Amino acid sequence: MRTKVKNIGLVVLLLFALISLASFQTPSKAQKRKYKVVIDPGHGGKDSGTRGKNLLEKEVVLAVSLKVGKYLEELTDNIEVIYTRKADEYSHPKVRAILANDADADLFVSIHANAMPPGNEHVYGTETYVMGVKNEGRNFEVAKRENSVILLEEDYKEKYQGFDPTSPEVNIAFSIMQEAFQENSILLAQNVENQFAKRAGRNSRGVKQSSLWVLWNTAMPSVLIELGYLTNPKEEKELGTAEVQDYMASAIFRGIRDYINYLESTK
Ligand SMILES: [Zn+2]
Repeated sequence: MRTKVKNIGLVVLLLFALISLASFQTPSKAQKRKYKVVIDPGHGGKDSGTRGKNLLEKEVVLAVSLKVGKYLEELTDNIEVIYTRKADEYSHPKVRAILANDADADLFVSIHANAMPPGNEHVYGTETYVMGVKNEGRNFEVAKRENSVILLEEDYKEKYQGFDPTSPEVNIAFSIMQEAFQENSILLAQNVENQFAKRAGRNSRGVKQSSLWVLWNTAMPSVLIELGYLTNPKEEKELGTAEVQDYMASAIFRGIRDYINYLESTK
């Protein structure tokens, strides 16, 4: 009998100890929301994109994109990275947009490299695009080039719900979709261009608007980054080095991180 009482006493003591221990533990931090960021290295496989003397757009954008994803995964704890491709593979722009929409992503970042027609080799620098319905001058040329892969398809007008990348004025259902995200897309685009200028020492040509198909069909804030001109010999050479690729990736990473932090702070 005595032993039983003693045992009960011990159990009570033990329980008490456990309860006090639990109450002294610091409360675990509320689970942070994870933001899904789609990194979209432009082109790939049979679609090389533009080219310089030595560099192919599909190669340089993949190298930079993988570094951006690595920084996001290693240096943040609230961002999940989804790639549209991680190797030299062809992925249709429509498939990329669907992938982002199906993943219910918070952000879509498409990474490309730029080109100028012969005679304009002096032009260099970065540009970041948000979707827009007015394609003025040079921006329309970028739209035609970046949309060219869908122009190869004969029935693209039906397939892309009336989206006509050959028209300088794309007055379609875009206004319903991307317009809702325009403000946030511009914010991210500005972050990235600021980082290019300040941290990476690049010639930032600023934030622009263009009717880019891959942006038109995503249901989240979306930007398309042009890392630089492969038609400018100096910029092509620089973009081919691991050092400059690192700077570019680091700048994009910072732009995305600051944007997500801003979202968190205004929640
Ligand atoms: Zn491209």
